[in-house]
Amino acid sequence: MDTKKNSILIVDDENANIMLLTNILEKDYLIYTAKNGNEAIAKAKEVKPDLILLDIIMPEMDGYETLAEIKKTEGNQNTPIIFISGLDSDEDEEKGLLLDAADYITKPFSRIVVKLRVRNQMQIVTQLRTIEHLSMIDQLTNLPNRRSLDERLKIEWKLAIREQTPISLLIMDLDKFKNINDVCGHLQGDIILQKVAEIFKDSLKRPGDFVARWGGEEFVTILPNTSLDGAMEIAERIRLNVENTLMPSIDSSEIKITISIGVNSVIPTLNNFINSFLSNADKALYAAKDAGRNKVVCHN
Ligand code: GH3
Ligand code: MG
Ligand code: MG
Repeated sequence: MDTKKNSILIVDDENANIMLLTNILEKDYLIYTAKNGNEAIAKAKEVKPDLILLDIIMPEMDGYETLAEIKKTEGNQNTPIIFISGLDSDEDEEKGLLLDAADYITKPFSRIVVKLRVRNQMQIVTQLRTIEHLSMIDQLTNLPNRRSLDERLKIEWKLAIREQTPISLLIMDLDKFKNINDVCGHLQGDIILQKVAEIFKDSLKRPGDFVARWGGEEFVTILPNTSLDGAMEIAERIRLNVENTLMPSIDSSEIKITISIGVNSVIPTLNNFINSFLSNADKALYAAKDAGRNKVVCHN
């Protein structure tokens, strides 16, 4: 999946410790270093390491305080931090773990124990990433799923309110898709869903544009900073791209399909609600179906 090395931030006020830990870990991980609490906080914010090894006794800001600050930083809240300290009593270890450290290693440490404990934490990091990915992606089309759409829409909505920019939404629904399944089979239906997902992705040009599978044969596109005119143009382009594409087929039959699209666009204020933004786009979609399908219709 990911061939990039995971990264570790090593924080210690003693150069010799940094060098030793780097030497143990640099073969398997990308290493960043910091020599005090403030440097560590800044570095963590900048590089968002996968794991942090943190000394406790340091001048000015100790490891406990540094941990608390790092855990407050956006993007570092869930970064595992392993204390690595000369404080070796049970109480010290207990205090560290209670502060939400992922693990506690005492100095002097064994090379192999450091390696293994780091490996264990990295395995958890990787597993969490996989779960997060699986929970946000639709397995059939590889597009973001509904949960992902909900999150993204909330973010873009807030941004549009703050910047007072238009935000547009397209709801795309395959026309008479039940027929395809009934006549050509569910497998053929799945292949078509995969193909239209690809067409949707290829039809969007801006990096901020976002398309997700909303449900069975319904997809939603969010177009940030896009007015109604722009959204209608893009919807029409998507509609045409689908109409003009010969679908891959499991036998040699020629299959073409069409889609209907409902469009809505607003410059949202605190008086607008995402739910009605969505339901009005959905109403426009129904109007497109009523008007004979293979059409783009906007709300109002
Ligand atoms: P309309 O033009 O009014 O949208 O008609 P339609 O047949 O597309 O709409 P309807 O809602 O009646 O049927 C949707 C069909 O989409 C039902 C189901 O067979 C199909 N479908 C939904 N999800 C999947 C899926 O994951 N795979 C396949 N193959 N078909 C699906
Ligand atoms: Mg349909
Ligand atoms: Mg439908």
